[in-house]
Amino acid sequence: MDSIFIKIINREVPATIVYEDELVVAFLDASPVHPGHTLVVPKEPFVNMFDGDPETLAHMVKVAQRLAQALQVVVKADGINLHMNNGAAAGQEVFHAHMHVVPRYEGDKSYQKPRKQSYDDTGVDAQALGAQLSAQLAGTE
Ligand code: 5GP
Repeated sequence: MDSIFIKIINREVPATIVYEDELVVAFLDASPVHPGHTLVVPKEPFVNMFDGDPETLAHMVKVAQRLAQALQVVVKADGINLHMNNGAAAGQEVFHAHMHVVPRYEGDKSYQKPRKQSYDDTGVDAQALGAQLSAQLAGTE
């Protein structure tokens, strides 16, 4: 897999790297929501959470927690959004998995809440859907 993030990991393209270990690199997003917005990126590339190794994904979250704690201190974040865009339909633009760690501040309007609806409006039976999901999960254990 070729991606801009591979080039950053290999130091072929500059980035502000703030953390590195055997599994991941974390660097500042070039276009931050707020200063300190960081991306946690696996060194062994995968596209997104659909194909990622679960242990690596779990490690990404552990590193994100440490980053969140550091951002509370360094940029005085009041809150943190942690998110991954998985697939083009979910807004993914770089197809090398990455977790966003985004500092947030009281009253900032940098994120819009997703538009939500009631199950009645969707016409989908929540209980039937829940049963379907449970069965699917049981089948993949
Ligand atoms: P996505 O939309 O795929 O979840 O997010 C990709 C993120 O990568 C974007 O927030 C974008 O600003 C960031 N990004 C893209 N190219 C570069 C780059 O060359 N350097 C850095 N540091 N960040 C990048």
